[in-house]
Amino acid sequence: MKAFDTFFAGGVAVPCDGESTYPVTSPVTGEIIGQVRYSSADNVDLAVEKARAGYRAWKSSSVVERKRCLREIAASLQARTAEIAQSLADEIGCPTFLGEAMQVGMAIKGLELAADGIDQIDWEERVGNGLVQKVGIGVVAALTPWNFPLHQIVAKIAPVIAAGCAVVLKPSEVTPTAARIFAECVHASSLPDGVFNLVWGGREVGEKLTSHPGVDHVSFTGSTLVGMAIMTSAAQGMKRVTLELGGKSAAVILDDADLDQAIPNVVRMSLANSGQTCVSQSRIIVPQDRFTEIVERYLAEAKSWRMGDPAVAGVKLGPVATKRQYLRIREMIDHAKASGAEVKEAFEVDAALSAGFYIPPTLVTNVDAHSEIAQQEVFGPVVCVIPYKDEAEAITIANSSAYGLSGAVWSQDTARATRVAEQLETGQVIINGAAQNLATPFGGWKESGFGRENGKYGIEDLLTFRSIHGAA
Ligand code: NAD
Repeated sequence: MKAFDTFFAGGVAVPCDGESTYPVTSPVTGEIIGQVRYSSADNVDLAVEKARAGYRAWKSSSVVERKRCLREIAASLQARTAEIAQSLADEIGCPTFLGEAMQVGMAIKGLELAADGIDQIDWEERVGNGLVQKVGIGVVAALTPWNFPLHQIVAKIAPVIAAGCAVVLKPSEVTPTAARIFAECVHASSLPDGVFNLVWGGREVGEKLTSHPGVDHVSFTGSTLVGMAIMTSAAQGMKRVTLELGGKSAAVILDDADLDQAIPNVVRMSLANSGQTCVSQSRIIVPQDRFTEIVERYLAEAKSWRMGDPAVAGVKLGPVATKRQYLRIREMIDHAKASGAEVKEAFEVDAALSAGFYIPPTLVTNVDAHSEIAQQEVFGPVVCVIPYKDEAEAITIANSSAYGLSGAVWSQDTARATRVAEQLETGQVIINGAAQNLATPFGGWKESGFGRENGKYGIEDLLTFRSIHGAA
């Protein structure tokens, strides 16, 4: 059993002396495979104190030093790819091929893009007699979730390093291994002690950290409800916030879409990581007269996704991450059924998998666009298919969500797809399955939050201005 009982402050691994612990549980077997001991309030104070010292040293670092550290960390992570992917299979049931390609691949790309982003920022400009400088905001409290744990850590820490800030990270207690490996890679790099610090904990430690007077900026990725609580608490200390929150993204299939291309892509965008991605396309908005065809083709494609032990080659669909998550998804499906929705599963879960938290790909039809299952984030392999009469209605349905994180449009006419994309109230839109460009800003509208991550945009999010009048 793995033990996570030291936190990181000022470059040193210090024993945690909090009283609470979290049992890290395998979603494949339901067995406990590790334990996280939480940091105490004093431990958090120490980590913040070290971060303040780290900030004082790092804020005047050169761009060359910043880029070198980012690239060193990327190289160390690359060397540990297989180990990280295995831990994500063990702790959240993410298939290892996906862990290697996306979970680790996106993290490495994120570090490289932050290094590139440093050169894309005008750090100083002259305005008359004024010297306008862009400077790191200070100490950042970074709080991350479990679904893409390494990528989300990098999305917060890479800009911290690039902007000349310092950080105390509180990673998700559900996926501690990726966070610890990341900390080890940072410590093996030439980043000075104190710039990166890490505490373990759940809600209470998160609250202690986000309300700490030594913190200048809170960067949170997680659920909208927790994001709202963090924003309220940050207001008391006048801290800036970056909030990357939930989503209910829509794939809008226009009447001229090529379904041979669209269906496999939409299935992938809704089932990858068992639907536990913030950009999961959990609503498919389809022309009324192609509704039956699309439902049948989705189910046939989803049926080809092999479900099983995520560490086994060829498995595309693992269990959902936690028992809590499993019960919540089941409850939402049952509630939808009780409200009159039709629920179709692509296949039955094999009896041999009954110890794990497995949920088959599930299509929900005959559902009102304003009902719970079509509005709330399920965070599982569950998709609503909603028909529309005309293009205007498709856009209205897509925008009827309180969230605004991502979306997709499918049409053989790219100009038409672009016009529709421009009417979607979301932070990003993918046309015809285009590759997601990680150098572009990532973030939400509406209840999906605000602030941006990735490349130079993530760095700018952590900068503030200093104007010096009459400077040399
Ligand atoms: P969560 O909101 O329950 O927890 C996220 C983190 O916040 C964890 O580290 C948790 O310990 C901590 N936390 C919980 N309550 C807190 C409080 N009151 N104060 C401070 N910290 C607190 O989210 P989760 O279940 O870990 O992750 C799933 C959610 O994350 C989904 O809603 C998903 O959409 C969202 N998400 C968003 C993005 C994005 O970029 N927009 C990316 C990934 C996941």
